[in-house]
Amino acid sequence: MNSQLVEQSEKLAIEGGMPIRSTLLPYARQFLSEEDIEEVNKVLRSDWLTTGPKVEEFEKAFASFVGAKEAVAVNSGTAALHSSMFALGIVEGDEVIVPTMTFAATANAVVFQKGTPVFCDCDPQTLLIDPVKVEEKITDKTKAIVAVDYAGQPCEYDELREIADRHKITLVSDACHALGANYKGRAVGTLADLNTFSFHPVKPIATGEGGMITCESYESAEKMRRLRNHCLTSDHRERQEKGAWHYGMEDLGYNYRLSDIHCALGLSQLKKVNDWTNRRREIAKKYNQTFAQMDSVTPLGLRDDVTHAYHLYVIQLELDKLSVDRGEIFKALRAENIGVNVHYIPVHMQEFYKREFGTGEGLCPIAEQSYERILSLPMFASMKDEDVEDVIEGIEKVINYYSK
Ligand SMILES: *Cc1c(COP(=O)(O)O)cnc(C)c1O
Repeated sequence: MNSQLVEQSEKLAIEGGMPIRSTLLPYARQFLSEEDIEEVNKVLRSDWLTTGPKVEEFEKAFASFVGAKEAVAVNSGTAALHSSMFALGIVEGDEVIVPTMTFAATANAVVFQKGTPVFCDCDPQTLLIDPVKVEEKITDKTKAIVAVDYAGQPCEYDELREIADRHKITLVSDACHALGANYKGRAVGTLADLNTFSFHPVKPIATGEGGMITCESYESAEKMRRLRNHCLTSDHRERQEKGAWHYGMEDLGYNYRLSDIHCALGLSQLKKVNDWTNRRREIAKKYNQTFAQMDSVTPLGLRDDVTHAYHLYVIQLELDKLSVDRGEIFKALRAENIGVNVHYIPVHMQEFYKREFGTGEGLCPIAEQSYERILSLPMFASMKDEDVEDVIEGIEKVINYYSK
């Protein structure tokens, strides 16, 4: 290349230079094989589109994969969280401790049951809920703690369990990021009393929309199976098999059912979890090696007693070493067609919670400060090595340009 071309390729895309890529690399996306599609086709040709045999088959396979006794399929991760709050019997006046560094649905699920989410701050390195701060938030109204395995790294479950047991409250895991991860050799999905998953296309496996709750208690599982079907005492298939029409309704339920079409896709996707998790770990290793050499970029802290599922790969920018803020870095990377994202705006900073629960700035200072400097980089199993190189090149190009 002549010097003019070199200059052209190094000029930031946001300033009119050549972008690193010609099309946007998203931060996450699903991967479907022909086999997945064929499994869905089989259901489309069968008698049962919903509430058929694939639901139980998916539940059994999922329970067996994580090593839990029970799994309950529902139609989103949000429905999984709400079902958990219902199973726990959360009612008006009850408090549930939730991290603020999470997706809004974690806290919303408490509000669906008229409970009060109590927002808890995080560890500044891992951004996982801080057990010391959890304990400070416990009152005589506290009924449960929800731990979110942020980015795919399991929380401090032994400490959280000890706190929950001592206060005789329940431990829930929002494991929507963490299918495939382990904590001290124990699989995510078995670490809390109720464990929730999402199968949205950006999550570790995809069914389109979908979710699951795993637990040891048959009683809780049955409660949630009822809730997903309007709290009726029997479902359509059971009635058809018995040739009966009568059903009772003892509580107010919802339609949170996951269809056989979705479950067939889930069953097929579940077979890939280990391979995909390994691939994401390989990508994370590449990123880690790169960022170890860069002063202005710090990857999240890694605990040594876990294996990470790397749903997200989050970096924290060292803003004092940069001439612009996170917003400018974000825009510059997007212009390079590197699909960075931000996970998350602390939930207690959302207008709804400010208005309805009186939350706001200063409630969780570590999460608020971290929010200003985090970026999620593209991370999904079907990324090619060239895609990973593009991300690294893009980060180097933009960060070096804005370094003081
Ligand atoms: C995705 C997600 C949810 C919600 O799952 P949906 O399937 O989109 O309803 C809840 N909590 C966390 C941490 C998530 O990442």
